[in-house]
Amino acid sequence: MSNHPKDGVQLTSFLRPDLVNMHAYSVPDSSGMIKLDAMENPYSLTNTLRSDWLEVLKHIDFNRYPDASAKEITKTLRDHLNLDEGFDLLFGNGSDEIILLLMLAMEKNRTILFPEPTFVMYRLLAQIVGLKSSGVTLKESFQLDLDAMLAAIAKENPCLIFISQPNNPTGNVFDRADLETIIRHTNGLVIIDEAYQAFTEHDALTWALHYPNVLILRTFSKIGLAGLRLGFLVGQNAIINELHKIRLPYNVNSLTQASLLFVLEHYDAFVKQTQQICMEREKLLVALRQIDSLTVWSSETNFLLFRPEKSANDIFQALKENHILIKKLDQAHPILSNCLRVTVGSPEENIAFLDALKKLV
Ligand SMILES: *Cc1c(COP(=O)(O)O)cnc(C)c1O
Repeated sequence: MSNHPKDGVQLTSFLRPDLVNMHAYSVPDSSGMIKLDAMENPYSLTNTLRSDWLEVLKHIDFNRYPDASAKEITKTLRDHLNLDEGFDLLFGNGSDEIILLLMLAMEKNRTILFPEPTFVMYRLLAQIVGLKSSGVTLKESFQLDLDAMLAAIAKENPCLIFISQPNNPTGNVFDRADLETIIRHTNGLVIIDEAYQAFTEHDALTWALHYPNVLILRTFSKIGLAGLRLGFLVGQNAIINELHKIRLPYNVNSLTQASLLFVLEHYDAFVKQTQQICMEREKLLVALRQIDSLTVWSSETNFLLFRPEKSANDIFQALKENHILIKKLDQAHPILSNCLRVTVGSPEENIAFLDALKKLV
């Protein structure tokens, strides 16, 4: 054991040098907090529903691997979405995993493109897999800068374009005509990330029919199942079949597969909660707009973006001392300077947040 590595320098000497400058995705400790930072659904299910669900889980053969091709959930979700023959589905351990799979499938040295500010995982995962990324700043209205997007497409010839529709963290939907122009001007795949589809009237599923380079990404996280870790991608067979080659065989575990069947059978309960969240969002929007010193943007998601006149950082910290956790976006992008984002909580949570906030602004 004479040349056994003894210090950290040797232990990390074989790692990618760019890891040194990267940071692990950090999730703040939220124990004992009113948690309004991560777009989770605040409601729980009835006791009956919970025990019926547990009853289903009781019968899982935990000694066996999950169904590697996820046949049952694929069929059930296909029916639920009314998917046409030519389409296929790919499941992931959250849509985050699907974003990673898409990137792993790309040629080296290619570029991925997205408007900015947007969901941070696009850039982070590109960095992890070693793809270049290019962000195109949104207009002040948070709409796409179409000319800049088209110029970036011409210059970078991106292999993937990620569009969060509605956009996280700005909460708005992008102009559909702009999106179609982008889709028609690229040779790359356009991923419409509909993580917040449940909270808006807009839906791009049919675009996957018309445009072979469009893929639709969705997740069950924001409607109340963040703990399950289940996302899915819809697209034409030719692309989805290739992506299956990159996926780990058992990426969706037995608990999650069984749970999805249960969830789709009882989908009404989740739809009801979603509608309630949308109602609460509008109430919260009105209440925030009554505060003179705030700019608040309307939203088609389960969160609201706002900008106080006072320091966002001070307000964030003071809320935290009051056991209310929201999200600070001040450093995320220049057009979000001094901005904060709050997830729509239960009526009680929203009142607690508003009361605390009013004392601080
Ligand atoms: C939350 C979020 C996701 C990630 O969802 P998971 O399925 O929980 O991994 C993807 N895209 C956007 C835009 C999101 O806000």
